[in-house]
Formats: sequence, C-alpha cells, structure tokens
Amino acid sequence: MSEVSNPFFNAMEQLDKAAGYISLDERIHTMLKQPDRLIEVAIPVVMDDGTVKIFTGYRSQYNNSLGVYKGGIRYHWNVTVDEVKALSFWMMIKCATVNIPMGGAKGGVIVNPKELSEGELERLSRGYIQKLWMVLGSDKDVPAPDVYTTPQIMGWMRDEFEKIIGKQDPGVITGKSIDQGGSEGRGFSTAQGGAYCTRELAKNMNMIPEETTIAIQGFGNAGSHMARLLSEMGYRIVAVSDSKGGIAINNKQVTTNKLNIDALTEYKARTGSVVGFEGTTEISNDDILTMDVDILVPAALENVITPENAGNIKAKAIVELANGPTTPDADEMLKKMGVVVVPDVLANAGGVTVSYFEWEQNVKGEHWTEADVLTKLEKIMVDAFHEVWSTKEQYKTDMRTAAFIKAVDRVSVKLTETL
Ligand code: GLU
Repeated sequence: MSEVSNPFFNAMEQLDKAAGYISLDERIHTMLKQPDRLIEVAIPVVMDDGTVKIFTGYRSQYNNSLGVYKGGIRYHWNVTVDEVKALSFWMMIKCATVNIPMGGAKGGVIVNPKELSEGELERLSRGYIQKLWMVLGSDKDVPAPDVYTTPQIMGWMRDEFEKIIGKQDPGVITGKSIDQGGSEGRGFSTAQGGAYCTRELAKNMNMIPEETTIAIQGFGNAGSHMARLLSEMGYRIVAVSDSKGGIAINNKQVTTNKLNIDALTEYKARTGSVVGFEGTTEISNDDILTMDVDILVPAALENVITPENAGNIKAKAIVELANGPTTPDADEMLKKMGVVVVPDVLANAGGVTVSYFEWEQNVKGEHWTEADVLTKLEKIMVDAFHEVWSTKEQYKTDMRTAAFIKAVDRVSVKLTETL
C-alpha cells in the first residue's frame, strides 16, 4: 500500500498538523502515534460444506484516556491492519470532538460477508468473540457496527460474550436491535448527527434547504438514512450512488426536480441497487463526487477524495459521513479552493454518540424514548458543531484541524496526568 492510500499514514499527518497549532507536548505527541494494544487473530469457521476456513480479524485499542475503548467492527474484503489502526485513532478523536466519555478502538475482519450464508456469518461473528472476549466488556472495550456489520451480528456477539463469561453484560456491545437491549434511534443515528451538522452548516453558509442541491456517495445504512432525513428537511437530493453505480436526476436545472427518496429506497430494496431508478441517468461512483451541487456527502469508504479529483469538485461544502473519505493532500486543495469540509470525526459522530447512550442505558438498566435520545443527540451535535466552527475561526484553519485541536487537547490533558 502506498503512503498516500495508507489511512494510518493520513491519520498521523492530521495529528501532526493539529499538534503544530497547539504546540502539543512532544511526549504526548509521541504517545499518540500508536495504539495502546493491537491484536490480530485467526478465526476458524466451519463452512456449510464442512470445510474449515480461517479468517483474519483485528482489534485496535487506541486510547482509553477519556473512557472505555469504543468503536465498530468492520467486515470487508479490503480490511488491513493500517486501516483498523487509523479507524481506531479516528474513534478516539471523534469521541473527544463531541466530548463524550469514551476512548477509541476499532475492529475488522477480512471477509466478503455477501459471500457467506447466514450460518457462516453467525459462526464467524461468534468466532471473533471467542478470540477476543478477554479484552472486551462494558468496562473495557465496547464494539459496535461498522461497514457491513448489523444489529443481528451485534446480538450474536453479545450472546457469545455472555456465554463465555457466564453472566449478563448487555453493555459489552452497542448497535444491538431493540429486543437485544439496543437504543431507540441507533439505527439512523449516524445520519441523524450528519443531518444536524448539515442544518447548522447551511445556516452558517446562508444556504436555504429548498434551494440547496446535494449528492450522496453511498446508499448503505449511513447514506440512505441521510438521504431520507435531508430530503424530509427540504433539501434537494439530486444524485446518489451505491457500490453498483450512481444515478443523477434528469433535468436538474428544473428547481423542483429532486429524487423521491422513499420510492428510491423501495426500488433499491427490490432490485439491489439504485441504478436504473426512473427519471435518472446513470453516472459512475467517481462522477458523483465532481457533480455540480451545493453539498457533497461521501457516505461510503475512505480515500475517495484525492488529489486526482479534488480539483474538479464543484460543491461549496462537503459533509463527511464516511470515515476518512478525504486524503490530507486533497484536504489542502479543498481548503485553498474555499470548500468547507465538515470532517468525519464530527459529521458522523452521531453513531457513536447514540452508542454511548445505549451503553449508558444498559449499564443503568434503563430504556429511553426515541424523543429523549434525539433531544440529547441534537444538543451534543449542535454544541460540537459550533465549538469546532468557532475554533476554526479562532485559529484561521479548516474544520478538521479545528476538531483535532479540541480533541487532541482533551485527550492530552488526561494523558499528561499519567506522566
Ligand atoms: N462504526 C461507527 C463509527 O465509525 C460507530 C462506532 C460506535 O458506535 O462505537 O463511528
């Protein structure tokens, strides 16, 4: 993997940049350059045909200065150790940016989950816990869903963990279904947090929802809910894409034209992709990034906005619902071009924030209403958005560096106590 496409290399560049702004203590800077603990495991799974296949799994526990390690588990064929490390670092920054008492961690398994039967997926998920249960727990490290992992997988993992330790610990994992002890609102909380950020951004940039066009790359859990929420708020979603390709509304210049997200969601559930939806033209997953829209929402994977395409971006603002979609070099270009980037560590922090609420409900034996959850989430997101915005103004920098400044400062106060 080249340095440019290595997410951990990119994450460390972001750290160095923020450290420069706040003259971070060199000792703390050094301590923040690697995870506290990085584990690789071999997970044997009995396949449906009776053979055994070994899958490689990881857990990176980056830092727990602010609270228990926290972060999702990704199932993807391109998972690498450096990706898991970067994602765990970003979880630390993310929790600190929105000021919730959680640390940073991430897990991953190299697998294409679409090729496994449900039984194989369950055995893989239970196998992950059999290899890692000793470092997990509601008082140690609390995983959650990420790319291609679901509430059902979280339920299997909780069950396996409790079988092994011989007692209940529902707070060992978040993103569970409601009947498994999950929180109201968790399923769409990443998008909900992103929607609150978009609303605050639009206010600060004097954009009127009905006149604001948006393109969304990715129509998975985060992207599809984001499309629904923003469209309910009045924004004009004019293009979306999924792993099979993208679509753009025909005659975008007609100001009333926009995608009908409910009909599109129903269409994707029926056909497996957004491609071919009535009244649209097919575009590629790359084309969607350079479309002439007001706001671009990358909601899929990392490293999609690079120096190769950043110069062609026409959006005035980018709301990063995916983790790590913009490389540091592309970030610099966007800054010079005057494109406002709401960084992943803020824009997609709604997911881990409601995970934190779920963990708290589990630990206290409570169940909050959806209205309660959303009120608390809105306050955290709006406060964090404006704190990052004013830090950006104060340091005359971009929002990502501003978020890192606040987050690294919070972590470093705690780390300094350990020296
Ligand atoms: N995977 C999500 C993220 O990247 C959620 C993590 C969590 O809820 O712990 O933020």
